[in-house]
Amino acid sequence: MKIAVVGTGYVGLVTGTCFAETGNTVTCIDIDASKVESLSKGKMTIYEPGLDVLFERNRKENRLLFTTNLAEGIKDAEVIFLALPTPPGEDGSADLKYILGVANELGKILDHYAVIIDKSTVPVGTSEKVHAAVAANAKVDFDVVSNPEFLREGVAVDDFMKPDRVVIGTNSERAKVIMEKLYAPLVRQGNPVIFMDERSAEMTKYAANAFLAMKITFMNEIANLCEKAGADVDNVRRGIGTDSRIGKRFLFPGIGYGGSCFPKDVQALGKTATEYGYDFKILKSVMLVNDKQKTKLIPRVKEYFGGELKGKTIALWGLAFKPHTDDIREAPALYNIKALRRAGAKVVVFDPEATANVRKEIGKKVKYAKSPYEAVEGADALMIMTEWPEFRTPDFEKLSAALNNKVIFDGRNLYDLTEMRTLGYDYYSIGREDIV
Ligand code: NAD
Repeated sequence: MKIAVVGTGYVGLVTGTCFAETGNTVTCIDIDASKVESLSKGKMTIYEPGLDVLFERNRKENRLLFTTNLAEGIKDAEVIFLALPTPPGEDGSADLKYILGVANELGKILDHYAVIIDKSTVPVGTSEKVHAAVAANAKVDFDVVSNPEFLREGVAVDDFMKPDRVVIGTNSERAKVIMEKLYAPLVRQGNPVIFMDERSAEMTKYAANAFLAMKITFMNEIANLCEKAGADVDNVRRGIGTDSRIGKRFLFPGIGYGGSCFPKDVQALGKTATEYGYDFKILKSVMLVNDKQKTKLIPRVKEYFGGELKGKTIALWGLAFKPHTDDIREAPALYNIKALRRAGAKVVVFDPEATANVRKEIGKKVKYAKSPYEAVEGADALMIMTEWPEFRTPDFEKLSAALNNKVIFDGRNLYDLTEMRTLGYDYYSIGREDIV
């Protein structure tokens, strides 16, 4: 099949590369010329484990091409994916200007039947808007299909190549046949391709993300209550996770969810609810709790230093919003950096993959260390923001030799309380007893 992917970011590049891997010829289109130039030369623009190998193979086989030119990119394409940004607009609703802008262009240049696929996360009713925007100028037949993406950054290739399920919203039989053919190689183990109407498909994506954000937030609230009530959230987590109705995953408390999806999608779903006159109370609480949770450790850091952070140096391990990605969008670490600097502290940071992105965003506001141990050298405290595997079993002797005080504020509950007590650390985590 000949495929076009418009928007070559985290979702677009994974989508394009994986469909090239199943034998299709894919052209990825992006408005960002430097991105297209890098990718054309074989240079990856994102960090995503395993993607580089597939990218290189398919590029060399000429099955994966890049261009800034929409008309050239969609030439003869049977399907055209829209993997464009849908950031929050001023009022919190998803901004559709990228999607509708491209849809408008497509209408002018489309010269053959194609299935236009919304892969971006878009509110209910968007496929109708896309249809109208294309139809305004189109001279040929086309279908618009909603096909939300459920991949997780960090394991995106696996998620894409072996999806738990594929959701496709369409009422067109012609589009359905093409979509079935497209996804057949990815669901050979029998995972379902679930067909439904466009509106339900659009809602499914928001419902999934809002549910997961709610699950994390619920556990964070339990953790906050555990701290007050003298219970240990780790025990509670193990106690409830074995119930198959609840499940073990997404029960780890911490300093809140971030990333490019959960915050904006919860907000956008809330906005959709408001538009339809529905008071979606849980969503409001999820947002409020998560906002507070992100900087939950800051008051404890302040208290530890007698209410004064001026002149203190705080080391941060982890900048990415989660491990195995370089994505820093809405990362809790950024909120903590801001709060620490506002309180007068100096901040030294280390992250295995996300440093370059943070440097682009906040420049010299913090010091960048080349290793976790360089970050803590002469620092007054260590804060842990992201659960990168390499932080899980540090050399505690080296760590205490480097730190001015043996104190760790752990936003991801990486360490065992008994071990921290034995090692003589002051240790603050989430939903568990403070070790002081
Ligand atoms: P991204 O910002 O990484 O990528 C979007 C790309 O679109 C950028 O490269 C940008 O330059 C390009 N672009 C913007 N305007 C363009 C135009 N007019 N023509 C061509 N290219 C243009 O975003 P992303 O993380 O890939 O997310 C894309 C969509 O997928 C969003 O709706 C998001 O909510 C959804 N989504 C993201 C994830 C994820 O984990 N990142 C998962 C599922 C769904």
